[in-house]
Amino acid sequence: MAETSITAIGPLVDTHAHLDDSRMARDLPGVLSRARQAGVTQVVAIGTTAESSQDTVALAQAHRGVVAAIGIQPNHGSEAQPGDWERIVELTDAPKVVAIGETGLDRYWDRTPFSLQQDLFDRHLALAFEHELPVIIHCRQCEADTIAQLERLGRPVSGILHSFTGNWDDAQAFLALGLHLSFAGMVTFRNESLDPLREVAARMPIDRLLVETDSPYLSPHPFRGKTNEPARVALTCSRIAELRGMGAETLALQTTRNARHLFRLDDTETI
Ligand SMILES: [Zn+2]
Repeated sequence: MAETSITAIGPLVDTHAHLDDSRMARDLPGVLSRARQAGVTQVVAIGTTAESSQDTVALAQAHRGVVAAIGIQPNHGSEAQPGDWERIVELTDAPKVVAIGETGLDRYWDRTPFSLQQDLFDRHLALAFEHELPVIIHCRQCEADTIAQLERLGRPVSGILHSFTGNWDDAQAFLALGLHLSFAGMVTFRNESLDPLREVAARMPIDRLLVETDSPYLSPHPFRGKTNEPARVALTCSRIAELRGMGAETLALQTTRNARHLFRLDDTETI
């Protein structure tokens, strides 16, 4: 992968990266070294299946500054084999596991029957509550379903609506539930249709705002369409800072404080 020339803007946590994806796993030392040069201090590596969760935990245990989230992503729900959920439950107590997910709902891909997605989502939420861990929520084209399922729990939810793409009203509903909102590269794309998303990033409470790459997906401008990697979280953070009329360093520091608090990260263990 080509060297990037990304200006470091201070400590940053990439709250969502699929480090076990082969596109990054084959050059992880390079990926992490470029992240460090861009100021990234910690990366939350996200599992999507039982096997990927196991790999993600192993990666976290092998690399300083990498922590793990474990779960079965909704689009992988129908591939899950008997025993896979039990593997997730067993991994919950493994060292460096800081969150449950990603879990949630997806009406865009339609790869897993919706009732199975809802069942899995409920199980992940119960597991997160039981272990007092934050939950990482994927929501694609089903904000209303996700809000309804979370509201049925009748209690606040600690965690993240990851790669948020909803509107201002959706944002208010997720924030009222207690969630943080995390923004990926889309906020940097040129499309005017993304102005409402930028408005959320500009106006939402700063103490619930997080940034992520969702690597290897959603690479921010000017790397749109390329394989993404954690270093580029700096570009997303800078763009949001610009939208909020504040310094990029100040926003980096604040989002990092938010992430470290939510995941209870040890700030002395960095990449
Ligand atoms: Zn993801």
